[in-house]
Amino acid sequence: MSEPDWIRLQKALSIEAEKGYGDLVGNQYRFSEFLCLSLGKPPSSIPQQERSRWQDLAAKFAAYTQLSQAQRQQLIIRTCNFLHQQRAIATTANQPPKPKLPRTASLNSTSTSNYFTPKLTLDKPLSQVIDVGRRSHYLERLGLHTVRDLLFYYPREHLDYARQMQIAHLTPGETVTVIGTVRSCKCFSSPKNKKLTIFELVMSDPTGRLKINRFLTGNRFSSRASQESQKRRYPKGSIVAASGLVKQNKYGITLDKPEIEVLDGAGASIESIKVGRVLPVYSLSEGVPADTVRKSVIAVMPAATQLKDPLPAAIRNQYGLIKLERAIADIHFPDTQERLTHARRRLVFDEFFYLQLGFLQRRQQLKQNQASASFAPTGKLVQQFQQILPFPLTNAQQRVVTEIFRDLATTDTSMNRLVQGDVGSGKTIVAVFAILAAIQSGYQAALMAPTEVLAEQHYRKLVTWFNLLHLPVELLTGSTKTAKRREIHSQLETGELPLLVGTHALIQDPVNFHKLGLVVIDEQHRFGVQQRARLLSKGKSPHVLTMTATPIPRTLALTLHGDLDVSQIDELPPGRQVIETRMKTGRDRSKVHDLIRREVAKGRQAYIIFPLVEESEKLDLKAAVEEHQRLTEVIFPEFQIALLHGRMSSADKDAALTAFRDNQCQIIVSTTVIEVGVDVPNATVMVIEHAERFGLSQLHQLRGRVGRGSHKSYCFLMSSSKTPDAKQRLTVLEQSNDGFFISEADMRFRGPGAVLGTRQSGLPDFALASLVEDQEVLNLAREAAEKIITADKNLSGFPSLQQELEIRYRRLMGGDILN
Ligand code: ADP
Ligand code: MG
Repeated sequence: MSEPDWIRLQKALSIEAEKGYGDLVGNQYRFSEFLCLSLGKPPSSIPQQERSRWQDLAAKFAAYTQLSQAQRQQLIIRTCNFLHQQRAIATTANQPPKPKLPRTASLNSTSTSNYFTPKLTLDKPLSQVIDVGRRSHYLERLGLHTVRDLLFYYPREHLDYARQMQIAHLTPGETVTVIGTVRSCKCFSSPKNKKLTIFELVMSDPTGRLKINRFLTGNRFSSRASQESQKRRYPKGSIVAASGLVKQNKYGITLDKPEIEVLDGAGASIESIKVGRVLPVYSLSEGVPADTVRKSVIAVMPAATQLKDPLPAAIRNQYGLIKLERAIADIHFPDTQERLTHARRRLVFDEFFYLQLGFLQRRQQLKQNQASASFAPTGKLVQQFQQILPFPLTNAQQRVVTEIFRDLATTDTSMNRLVQGDVGSGKTIVAVFAILAAIQSGYQAALMAPTEVLAEQHYRKLVTWFNLLHLPVELLTGSTKTAKRREIHSQLETGELPLLVGTHALIQDPVNFHKLGLVVIDEQHRFGVQQRARLLSKGKSPHVLTMTATPIPRTLALTLHGDLDVSQIDELPPGRQVIETRMKTGRDRSKVHDLIRREVAKGRQAYIIFPLVEESEKLDLKAAVEEHQRLTEVIFPEFQIALLHGRMSSADKDAALTAFRDNQCQIIVSTTVIEVGVDVPNATVMVIEHAERFGLSQLHQLRGRVGRGSHKSYCFLMSSSKTPDAKQRLTVLEQSNDGFFISEADMRFRGPGAVLGTRQSGLPDFALASLVEDQEVLNLAREAAEKIITADKNLSGFPSLQQELEIRYRRLMGGDILN
């Protein structure tokens, strides 16, 4: 609170008295809310021993609406006198030097709340909270039912009204708030794109004019009614505050994605409390007014003092974290940017910490599940396989096989291991070693892959090896014929069939194993948690090996798979070429075609890939089909060109792939069904159309389809996109062949959710934490969780931690992972 705030408080009190104690409604807040909020945060110049008196008064104003007229009068007089006296204290008091760790030191002062209505408990339904009640139906729409829900409903961002700037002094790159008068406001559909609504507001202050735009996509904005209502929110002449990042474009200076708020409507007598504050902005669903949430948060804030901090003080101190109660207060209404930073850090820590604690505890529990079987690594099959392998394992493969064998050999716990390895690093062979170890100990194994194409390919490879080892293996997919399916089912039940390869068909109900000891899941992030669990339930705590070719940074692996052991194949088999990767535009197309021609003349083959995105699936499909025709008839009449896309029957897909694999056709035109794992070592050219529409990890995967033999290979990223962002992204691929590096870059560009697929991958939905920006906090949280679990694995010494863990972990992981 600064000098003008004193005046504002006094002014509010006198106006309320003048107008007859009606709890005046200002533009943003009612009088009592304003007082409650302002008094709840005494100025820093107020000495420690005085602060609880401020809290007490704040509490009184929280219950202002329940007071009689006479009581209100008394309270206001008392408050006026109090402020007068406090102001004197503040100006005369010797300001003590700021302690080094002011956050934790000053906490106690805020936790005295005996005066707040005892009824405002954390579990109280919002509909029963005074001053929220009538607004609670809005909050329900946001999934908020209790006081606690609302306290933990963190703002999406904050507007720093403290960083106010005049229009003439705006500098690109700074986030600021500009306050000015609305000169004009328009809202209309883009002439070029009917789905795009353009909102344009011109404001001015004494130093200049500023035009700001917002671009709204979607039908709900494009109706006339909605556009009119947008305009009505910012009438000409009203005072608005606009916040955002200052940006220079070809029309001059503007604010990027501005947040705009009307500060005072006509006749409002109380000045908005927004000016000069860091103000929360909440995610809202349609029709929920922003200030409804803010006001409701203010109303429930006194209950924050009841929050017990489950985090042990020792951990808090060690990692420099503020108390939960303080963090909750400051994440909503921080006084300064610095306090916000501390609050955010604490709450981000919590998000990671409980997740890690959950993972570690789950891991402990899994370890208590005795493995049903242990497989000795040394045995006939493993030895024979080593002999028939045409190449030696790489060091990385060798290491991972050893890690797996160690897991399989122990009886006290089942293996639960993830193998991460870049495209082409040779994960399949590693899995085969595990499978053979299971079989030679008398158990069955199952290998599940996300697509038919991939399952098929695994099967083909395995068949060759298994024939040499005189072992049967079968393939089960959605297109397996009924008779065959029955045969497989019965052979599984008798145990005759030691290995089954397949797609989701494996987890369908009639599939029963005689003695399933090992489950291998390829491209595991493509399966849901439940699907994985279904497969595991086909055996008695079988060993589990999962594999992924979208390698992710270690920190992220911890978040996603904190309950797994992770192995890395971080080395490619020798002799692999660096794939020459180039961005090309339409103009270079004939040169690309020439290169394909030269390669085919040398006996090599080429892929031409089209994106297939759901929204424009039909168009994309058409593009692929038409291009196939054009290539066949016009460009390469001398070659055989296959076509592959998801709408084809399995038999046709199969035929196309087989033809390509056997070099009966030299070029294959395909949509992204080809993406995962297809292995044709003779292919040396990969052309990817509309490359800007793919994620980097996906492009890397696609590129990995070439360069699998010993021939020099090429990848062309075709893109006519002129945006700097697209160029920058594609450059990463030109410059790097390292899957880890690329997936990290991809996450920076698109966010982990987009790269991995949030729900599908089991990636938790964090409210605050960013897996890209907060990796350091994640590491600390992991460390802290490990410390606690090591000291006390059942958390019996930390009952409140255990309780919080159950709530948080279940919420984060959607309840799935606990079973
Ligand atoms: P991915 O990790 O992408 O699943 P694969 O297991 O399909 O890779 O292996 C890619 C190719 O490399 C296959 O053709 C496989 O036979 C070959 N390969 C695997 N390991 C080695 C090795 N140690 N030396 C040489 N080639 C290998
Ligand atoms: Mg593979």
